[in-house]
Amino acid sequence: MPLDDNAKEAIKRNAGYRCEYCRMRGWPLTIDHITPRSTWTRALRQGQRPPPFEPDEACNTASACWDCNVIGKSERTSGEDPETGAKVPLFHPRRDTWEEHFEWVEDYNAIRGRSAIGRATVVALGMNLPHYVAQRRLLRAAALLGWEPWP
Ligand SMILES: [Zn+2]
Repeated sequence: MPLDDNAKEAIKRNAGYRCEYCRMRGWPLTIDHITPRSTWTRALRQGQRPPPFEPDEACNTASACWDCNVIGKSERTSGEDPETGAKVPLFHPRRDTWEEHFEWVEDYNAIRGRSAIGRATVVALGMNLPHYVAQRRLLRAAALLGWEPWP
């Protein structure tokens, strides 16, 4: 059953109205299916067993900004660690802890991966592209002026 507006709002509220990947605030949020919905249709088409949960279950949904979700992650669940070239899973907001895989650098303007998963996710989602950094600078400046804290 597709998520209704109340369910989508609850996912965003539980995430503090932030992207669960890049932690961005102030950008429109989407609902990310951590394992893409296409996984189920592909499994059925190929006569394989689909994942043991439904696409819209809480274990498979996350709050994500448009850029991380639609442009960066899209249908992917894995990426390449830029340090080793190894193929690793992308950050999983329901299984992984953000602080274990990422850290803030450059006065909270950029994110650095602390693990293979973190490094691969930063690259795959483009989490330090110039428009991300520009938005973080705005949020940081606003925080220093007494608006909401950043990050
Ligand atoms: Zn994001």
